[in-house]
Amino acid sequence: MKYNLFHKVRQLIIYLKPRDKSRYGQCRRCGACCKFMYQCVFLKYDDENKAVCRIEKLKFYTCSKYPLNSKEHHTKNVCGFQFPSEPG
Ligand code: SF4
Ligand code: SF4
Repeated sequence: MKYNLFHKVRQLIIYLKPRDKSRYGQCRRCGACCKFMYQCVFLKYDDENKAVCRIEKLKFYTCSKYPLNSKEHHTKNVCGFQFPSEPG
């Protein structure tokens, strides 16, 4: 799927919603969510090949809330977070 400006704006609006509280798990720092639309310029990897955000303290609210809910969970095949509705 080719993402464009429409998708980016849509995501900014959707992420104004509160996060689904049923989410569980933790981030594995795989970096997949930092490059599913396009590779973010602030993404780097450490010596253990773990994703690091160069602007960790300032990162966008969409990043901090990802994944917001099951519908917006675009990296569920590799992500350390899950929702009860997703197959285990
Ligand atoms: S700002 Fe940081 S957390 Fe957000 S996509 Fe870029 S590298 Fe990932
Ligand atoms: S896809 Fe999931 S596990 Fe990977 S960096 Fe993003 S939030 Fe963390």
